[in-house]
Amino acid sequence: MSAQTFKNYINGEWVGAAKTFENRNPANTEEVVGLFSKGTAQEVADAAAAAAAAFPAWAAMPAPARGNLLYKAADILDLKFEQLGAEMTREEGKTLPEAKGEVRRAINILRYFGGEGSRMPGMLVPSERDRVHMFAIRKPIGVVGLVTPWNFPSAIPAWKLAPALICGNTVVLKPASAAPLSAWRIVEALHEAGVPKGVVNFVAGSGGELGQALIDSKPLKAVSFTGSCQIGQWLHAEASKRRLRIQLEMGGKNPTIVLADADFGSAVENVVNASFFSTGQKCTATSRVIVEDAIYDRFVSALVERTRKLRVGDGMQPGIDIGPAVDEAQLHTVLEYIEIGKKEAGAPKIGGNRLSADGLSKGYFVEPTIFADVTEKMRIAQEEIFGPVLAVMRAKDFSDAMRIANNIPFGLSASIQTTNLSRVFDFVYTMEAGLLTVNLPSAGVEYQLPFGGSKESSFGPKEQGPAALEFYSDYKTVYLKY
Ligand code: NAP
Repeated sequence: MSAQTFKNYINGEWVGAAKTFENRNPANTEEVVGLFSKGTAQEVADAAAAAAAAFPAWAAMPAPARGNLLYKAADILDLKFEQLGAEMTREEGKTLPEAKGEVRRAINILRYFGGEGSRMPGMLVPSERDRVHMFAIRKPIGVVGLVTPWNFPSAIPAWKLAPALICGNTVVLKPASAAPLSAWRIVEALHEAGVPKGVVNFVAGSGGELGQALIDSKPLKAVSFTGSCQIGQWLHAEASKRRLRIQLEMGGKNPTIVLADADFGSAVENVVNASFFSTGQKCTATSRVIVEDAIYDRFVSALVERTRKLRVGDGMQPGIDIGPAVDEAQLHTVLEYIEIGKKEAGAPKIGGNRLSADGLSKGYFVEPTIFADVTEKMRIAQEEIFGPVLAVMRAKDFSDAMRIANNIPFGLSASIQTTNLSRVFDFVYTMEAGLLTVNLPSAGVEYQLPFGGSKESSFGPKEQGPAALEFYSDYKTVYLKY
């Protein structure tokens, strides 16, 4: 059966596909999941122009009516829930339960921001002056560019699209080339829900080629980007030349601190979960575990034994814990870092190889890998790998662990495993990261609270929760004499 072709979506029409690129299954590269229209700079310009034309009417629509369209799109996605989960596993590689969890989250995000349409909180405060009424209302910004990565191919497009739309903006979405189908499905659902033409536009294709066109498109007022630090920094520099509003969510090198008083068994589970599930390809994944000296050797042994039980394979198969790397480039990055790790820290305690036996030769599978006795200056302790590779580091005590944890340029997520309440609060107040967990895996956030990092991991207002409205809207302040 030949693969389906998925076109771009501009001004309410499915267009393009003169040239296409393949979306292949990373668990079985012989399978083409779909062919995607290779967008052009002209299409990006057309999409931005369509978004600009659609903006006044969309911005004028009552926000609860915009919310109803988000509810409808969520219902449409819900009807295809099983299909969408399977498609995500086939395009991105994460296991089917993880993929379904993400689809559920994307649906919930659309519903959550649909509800914001009925709230859209402004400000009302008493004036110092007699018979003056003063308040601030939210207004949309205009045309917003949304650029998304492959690792959460449904949730991240959803958590940018939904707040952008509910605030009354119109958008141009550029999904990741490695996994564009899940985002395409959300756009399809918005189309079927009846979102007016031009409000949502979708242009797939190489970011390297389309990025400049997006930034150069005259109607663009803001860009929300999630991806690597390298691309984020480039976008920031380009967007600043035009004084575009910008929001960047980028890489991490997230620590989990394990103290001697932790619930040992659940600390092991939490670290394994956060480090290896989703193939270590979560931006909030743990890539450094910092263990207090008193339990260090016992913890490393337990971690290795638990990791030995993980099953790597095609995420569509039941019982699989870890799928493949998303593509060949990511596979090579991970294998390169494993070689760097071997030079820096010696042989890994477990893993360290590509897997190709037992039917895995057609995919990008890597063993979950643990390096022990990693020290602070090593590259595997400082640089984001974005794969199933964990660095274990020894700390003398809690304050040493905090020092090591903070000694990186990133600040996305961090976790502590301890039963000591005062250590928990020390961690909460002094850990330099935007997302903290206590006695939970470092990864696994919900959509109802602000999401985002600090230091070099992020720039601009937070995403998700009520905070998301801050980026996608502006205040208009009114003083009224009556
Ligand atoms: P990436 O290579 O930076 O790509 C992200 C997006 O940017 C893709 O759509 C990509 O398109 C596009 N892009 C590439 N070059 C561009 C350019 N010059 N101008 C505009 N857009 C351009 O990142 P990735 O490999 O997809 O994702 C992994 C990274 O994302 C990791 O660093 C991870 O930590 C980070 N991440 C962060 C968060 C967070 O919330 N902090 C969440 C998830 C992921 P193509 O796909 O066509 O190259």
